[in-house]
Amino acid sequence: MRRPIRSMSISSLIAIYVVALLGALCGLGIYSEMRRRRFGPTHTEDRIFRCTKCGFIYTDDPDVDRSRCSQCGKLNEPIEF
Ligand SMILES: [Zn+2]
Repeated sequence: MRRPIRSMSISSLIAIYVVALLGALCGLGIYSEMRRRRFGPTHTEDRIFRCTKCGFIYTDDPDVDRSRCSQCGKLNEPIEF
């Protein structure tokens, strides 16, 4: 009667795998949160755009020169500080 023992060890392996996966996700979440807190308020790397058509304010990647407004679709120049 080795079957019940084997199936139990498989289910406990799955349980360990799930716990490890959740732990990894938790660690990743905490890591990204710490990264955002360290770099966030001091200098944001994203460019800020203000739509000249509808006035919607949004951000985009720093390597784009012009970004499309997600509200009305108009291309806008970034706001420089
Ligand atoms: Zn717009």
